Amino acid sequence: MTVAVFGAALAGCAAGGGEPRGSLAAPPPASASASAAGRPAAAPTLAAGPGGLTPVFERASATRAKTVALTFDADMTADQGPRAARGERFDNPALIASLRRLKVPATVFMTGRWAEEYPDQARSIGRDPLFEIANHSYSHHAFTSPCYGLPTVARQAMRTDVERAFAAFRKAGARNVVPYFRFPGGCYDDEALRALAPAKVTAVQWDVVSGDAFARDGDAVADQVLAGVRPGSLVVMHCTRSAAPVTEQAVRRIVPELRERGYRFVKVSELLKS
Ligand SMILES: [Zn+2]
Repeated sequence: MTVAVFGAALAGCAAGGGEPRGSLAAPPPASASASAAGRPAAAPTLAAGPGGLTPVFERASATRAKTVALTFDADMTADQGPRAARGERFDNPALIASLRRLKVPATVFMTGRWAEEYPDQARSIGRDPLFEIANHSYSHHAFTSPCYGLPTVARQAMRTDVERAFAAFRKAGARNVVPYFRFPGGCYDDEALRALAPAKVTAVQWDVVSGDAFARDGDAVADQVLAGVRPGSLVVMHCTRSAAPVTEQAVRRIVPELRERGYRFVKVSELLKS
């Protein structure tokens, strides 16, 4: 039951809570707070939505350029720490190695707990210019309820949870950290967007669900992605081997086929500029 519930959370909810808000804005000027947070000053963000709500980005809908962003969620919950200690693998070094070999830029939405469990990998990913690390919360708790049975973080603790993840990335030595946030399970509402406004992040959803969570057939995952990608698409996948065991296999098919169609892989920060 726990696994099934968590599987659903991994799969995300594309209809997760409302229409995207905000519009493209010029990259903000470098600020002391941005550099203190270890974020590249050049990372573009969206302007705040109505009432100052955290803006939400789903895909580059205005572009006709054949760009696509592959994103990989590095989930880690409190109960998975002991499971990792017993040998279960919530990382996926083979996937990261394949992305490097294929020279595919990608954005990793990392939880703070994952960075604490795998600090060497967090540092390596966060110092490789091919990649950027974005925030997937510290705890992987839900920011609105219900959300696939995930425990819910209290509204007054939401900002702290996000900032704790940024702190974990810094502690691991990651440098390429961008001010983007993906809600666990993709679940959010206006209260969550309001609570996170002071954190100055852009929330990032997706328009293509890969279905890689607990998938056993890499070709089926690849087919789903290849059928869904349009210019400016944002694909959600996972880099946790125990929960997404065929993702690397799927990527090895997705990448050459999309390149054959003329697509160029970009990080979310570049997709936001288009
Ligand atoms: Zn997640």
